[in-house]
Amino acid sequence: MAQGPKIIGRDALGRPIKDFSSIPWWSVPREKIPWYPKINYERCIGCGICFITCAGRTVYDWDFDKMRPIVARPYNCMVGCDTCAKMCPRDAIIFPHLGELRAWRDKYRIITKARKKLEEIKKKMDEQKG
Ligand code: SF4
Ligand code: SF4
Repeated sequence: MAQGPKIIGRDALGRPIKDFSSIPWWSVPREKIPWYPKINYERCIGCGICFITCAGRTVYDWDFDKMRPIVARPYNCMVGCDTCAKMCPRDAIIFPHLGELRAWRDKYRIITKARKKLEEIKKKMDEQKG
């Protein structure tokens, strides 16, 4: 059975920090995929939306001295997610371009993998039906 991510601590808001970085992305080691946020501190106004929004993945910590976010666990970021960047009122969060994401999709044959997975599930369902 697939193991879920381990809880490795709690953040400043008391939320569990899970280690998603050890979970492969479509069988590719997560650290081979450089999808994670970078912050342009010249633009950041320290509103906290990114830190608070990323509740499930806890990619960010908060620097209470400088009142700004820190990308503490980049490889916890869900590949393809850019919610925090979309929510940022200052466009201060940068991600790789969509073209790069699609290039990884093709390089690692994810369409084929997805189809195969669905076929396996269908086969199991058909077997259960008898
Ligand atoms: S959402 Fe944007 S402006 Fe607000 S703290 Fe995060 S990076 Fe800074
Ligand atoms: S893109 Fe999604 S998972 Fe990644 S840091 Fe932002 S909110 Fe968290």
